[in-house]
Amino acid sequence: MQIDDFKNLNSTEGEIQFEYDLKKLNWFNIGGKAKIFFKANSLKGLIDFLKVYKKRGKIFVLGAGSNVLITDGIYSGAVIKLGKSFQNLTIFNKNMINAGCGVTQKKLSEFSMENNLSGMEFLSCIPGSVGGGIRMNSGCFEREFKDILISIQCIDQDGSLKMINRENIKFEYRGSDLSKDLIFLSATFKGIKEDQNSIQSNMLKMKHQKKNAQPTKVKTGGSTFKNPKDQTEKKAWELIRESVPNSLNFGDAAISKKHANFFVNKKDASFNDMKKLITTVRDKVFKKTGVAINTEIIIVE
Ligand SMILES: Cc1cc2nc3c(=O)[nH]c(=O)nc-3n(C[C@H](O)[C@H](O)[C@H](O)COP(=O)(O)OP(=O)(O)OC[C@H]3O[C@@H](n4cnc5c(N)ncnc54)[C@H](O)[C@@H]3O)c2cc1C
Repeated sequence: MQIDDFKNLNSTEGEIQFEYDLKKLNWFNIGGKAKIFFKANSLKGLIDFLKVYKKRGKIFVLGAGSNVLITDGIYSGAVIKLGKSFQNLTIFNKNMINAGCGVTQKKLSEFSMENNLSGMEFLSCIPGSVGGGIRMNSGCFEREFKDILISIQCIDQDGSLKMINRENIKFEYRGSDLSKDLIFLSATFKGIKEDQNSIQSNMLKMKHQKKNAQPTKVKTGGSTFKNPKDQTEKKAWELIRESVPNSLNFGDAAISKKHANFFVNKKDASFNDMKKLITTVRDKVFKKTGVAINTEIIIVE
């Protein structure tokens, strides 16, 4: 891959960087550099980039970085991040919202509340972007993205635009059958007309409940493992608590005292420290309980 091929891409439509630091772009605050980093400021910019890149290597789309653990070395492909023009929020037909996939889930939730639409309150508790939320089928309080989504507007890595309706997507717990090749650009959601005060009080209740149960103001990727729903009634945090001492740590990678499924970077944990903690906990849980737990966190290497 010749760096010169990409130099012309720096414009108002997008910003190209080489060997770009990813550490500050994720919640764990761990990670090295992306060989190529492209911030798309417009759809045209994104299409131009994909045309020049021509699938010559891997592509990783980075949202708010709240669910990723990134290698300390060089990520050998391209990392794409959606810029400002993917952060629009528009209401139409009284109860439909179109959201850019770069906007935060919290902003979508607040916009829905300001327009007297309920159903998206749970998003106020999830720190990611709309794109990340769709990819992960994120959720809490018994609600997930699949419950509010109507359609997704996206582009594949060849640069072809597509629209996918909700009924053609098979969602599952923290995932779906949506192709890994897709970059989500914007999505349409449906809310239900309701009194603003009641929506707001619902949101506050959820935020309060979350604050009591999970650590705040720490460097974390949220739940490390998925709950192994088909193997046991027990949640991942319960299995971890009964199988692993809470004090287990590798360097600055540690288990949260407040929530055993939240792993934290206490200061300067490396990728290997955190990965070792993840694999050790997974092995200990299996040895003690016979339950195989899988990561919810996406490991990028
Ligand atoms: C404190 C804390 C609390 C959390 N609580 C919850 C919770 O209650 N429920 C829950 O489900 N999760 C929770 N999470 C996890 C995380 O916030 C969600 O998974 C979130 O939806 C990820 O969004 P993101 O933008 O940060 O995605 P990233 O972490 O940046 O990426 C996650 C995945 O989405 C893909 N992706 C991102 N944007 C796009 C796009 N535009 N197109 C295609 N793919 C894309 C990435 O390639 C990657 O595979 C929590 C995390 C933290 C740190």
